[in-house]
Amino acid sequence: MKSSRFRVAALAAALLAVTQVHPALAAPGDPGEPRYSAGASSLDDPYFPDQGNGGYDVQDYDVTFAYDPATKIMNATTVITALATQDMDQFNLDFQGPEITSLKVGKHPADFTRSGQELVVTPRPKVKSGQTFTVTVSYEGTPPVITDPDGSIEGWVPTDDGVFVPGEPQGAPSWMPVNDSPADKATFTFRATVPEGITVVGNGRLLSQTTEDAKTTFVWRSAEPMATYLATVTLGNFVVTESTTPSGIPVYTAVDPRLVTQSATAVARIPDILEYFSTIFGPYPFNQAGAIIDRAPNVGYALESQTKPIFSSAPSVSTMAHELAHQWYGDSVTLSKWSDIWLNEGFATYATWLWTEHSGGATAQATFNSSSNYGRAATSSFWQILLADPGPEDMFSNIPYNRGAMTLHALRGKIGDTAFFKLIKDWAADHQYGNATTADFIKAAEKISGQNLTSFFDVWLFQKGKPTTW
Ligand SMILES: [Zn+2]
Repeated sequence: MKSSRFRVAALAAALLAVTQVHPALAAPGDPGEPRYSAGASSLDDPYFPDQGNGGYDVQDYDVTFAYDPATKIMNATTVITALATQDMDQFNLDFQGPEITSLKVGKHPADFTRSGQELVVTPRPKVKSGQTFTVTVSYEGTPPVITDPDGSIEGWVPTDDGVFVPGEPQGAPSWMPVNDSPADKATFTFRATVPEGITVVGNGRLLSQTTEDAKTTFVWRSAEPMATYLATVTLGNFVVTESTTPSGIPVYTAVDPRLVTQSATAVARIPDILEYFSTIFGPYPFNQAGAIIDRAPNVGYALESQTKPIFSSAPSVSTMAHELAHQWYGDSVTLSKWSDIWLNEGFATYATWLWTEHSGGATAQATFNSSSNYGRAATSSFWQILLADPGPEDMFSNIPYNRGAMTLHALRGKIGDTAFFKLIKDWAADHQYGNATTADFIKAAEKISGQNLTSFFDVWLFQKGKPTTW
């Protein structure tokens, strides 16, 4: 769900007005007649050029599937509800999943072709701008594991007792057809049926859990808009614990039985971490919190899946804090293009520095100064990648994380605590459930501080080399 639906409507009205005043601009045909064309097959993000599609704005995904870890076969139907933003005789979805057995637009079977992750759909009847339409895709088989430019794996990753499902940055199309752009947020429902004894953990709230004929169906609903890369339906053997934070946010944690002891400290701190972050970032943005701690040794990382961060091994308290901080910065406020990854990772890393100081560890200033951060020699390769555009191979290296956090700490020193903490709180409020860019952040920082920060951001974000003055 894009935040600017009304702006789209206003733009459409403005374009219509232009067309009426200047008929010469109109293509041949009667005024007011739909002019059908194909929705764009890409949103041209240079890091992942196949990602995302144009011509429509997804409102909701409803994903129903049965899966058996023994056979690794998924039998699924995904219903996408979208709003057309142009007259379309063709549109694309992103899908890398198994064989499609049926595809309909509305009630009508539609022709489709597949090439790489592009699923090209030809709807009949055609779709008019402003129309809300559904796409129903049924498919059956084994979803693939996706490998990223940095070599890490994601998507549908089988474990010894189920499946680990991380989606950043391009894993979601492994198991469901999507508009795989971080800028097209939508609500989601997951209805998953698995052999009795297996637990499925999705984003949002558990609406129901029912067992019949030795199969259990879990229905999860993410009522707040979510980017596709933050979706998960991780499944396996889990010990589930439910509690509530002091502010009343329900917490659902699912832990692999083999990791309960090792995870206990990090799990126990979830309410404290959320309460602390709420005081400095503003209210927790979602109606559900929690964590999924699984054993997926071939994955080897954690991810901030919305409302249910997922961990491929027992997390430390600081890793837990990092993924919980992302619920504000990354999940609720999401980047629009992947080169802005520091807006996700720098914020979550800096939040962890603040948590460490708050809980009696090193001060944020000491962490800034340390040999992992500003203490690195000017000759280190650490300084030789552009923070504002690290590239797809380094987007999850320590550069966006550590240099991003340093940028925020240096900014705090530059504009003072009052302006800085107002800035990051307003950032979470002003862009809640939406998308934002580095340019938006610079503008907000200058407005709140009343300072011209061009040279500050220049040395921290837009130049290579270790900053010396700012
Ligand atoms: Zn992170």
